[in-house]
Amino acid sequence: MIVVKVGGSAGIDYDAVCADIAARWKDGERLILVHGGSGETNRVAEALGHPPKFVTSPSGYTSRFTDRQTLEIFEMVYCGKMNKGIVERLQRLGVNAVGLSGLDGRIFEGKHKDSVRAVENGKVKVLRGDHTGTVERVNTHLIDLLLAGGYLPVLTPPASSYDGVAINVDGDRAAAALAVALKADALLLLSNVPGLLRAYPDEASLIREIPAADVENYLEFAQDRMKKKVLGAAEAVQGGVRRVIFGDARHGQPVSAALGGQGTVVS
Ligand code: ADP
Repeated sequence: MIVVKVGGSAGIDYDAVCADIAARWKDGERLILVHGGSGETNRVAEALGHPPKFVTSPSGYTSRFTDRQTLEIFEMVYCGKMNKGIVERLQRLGVNAVGLSGLDGRIFEGKHKDSVRAVENGKVKVLRGDHTGTVERVNTHLIDLLLAGGYLPVLTPPASSYDGVAINVDGDRAAAALAVALKADALLLLSNVPGLLRAYPDEASLIREIPAADVENYLEFAQDRMKKKVLGAAEAVQGGVRRVIFGDARHGQPVSAALGGQGTVVS
């Protein structure tokens, strides 16, 4: 089993990702696709007059502050436009894909974090009314049913809180939790960069290999949102996933290239 997470940043070629996945699926490979949608969510949020608000925690992690209205816009884009766009592409390629969020069947579950500590103008503030959380539990029953029925699951945040409230969760870490729960052979984190760069944005500074035991030491090279990918990779390998690959989803055959060792391989 392979878990493929494709991001939501500018430059990602979803046609290329879907074509590669469809070919491999038809060859009999079992895989699950998890996707993001942050770039499009930002655009739609601006257009709807509710621009995105990003906050940075005291430890340096950036996340989207998700009030109720932002959550609704987030769902429109992630569960609507992005998810159905990917499902349609796969259906056109002859793959019977099913798109679900983490709320559906409580596939992704975690604790609802209502407030977040954020650094603003050098001061730490507490912001309330947040609908975020982290995936702590993956309920695989629905996924097993779909796979047994020959369907390719296409999953996206939000997740469900333990009380059934929709929460915005990081897609990379959700994909990592899924890969652990399914005992996947590999987790691919595909984005709009060649992999983890030692000196971002210099693409020539690509880090090719990271020993699994060492992955947290590489957090220092990742800025802002890349940190979540490195954290997800650490969680996946610590949970028993043998290989995590940060790969390039901008062109070519992104899944096959990553599985062939292109990008940053954590193992
Ligand atoms: P996605 O939405 O595709 O999952 P993110 O935007 O969350 O991706 O994270 C990928 C981004 O992280 C890259 O586009 C890049 O701007 C940024 N980044 C920060 N530090 C690094 C690094 N060291 N190597 C590669 N990318 C980095």
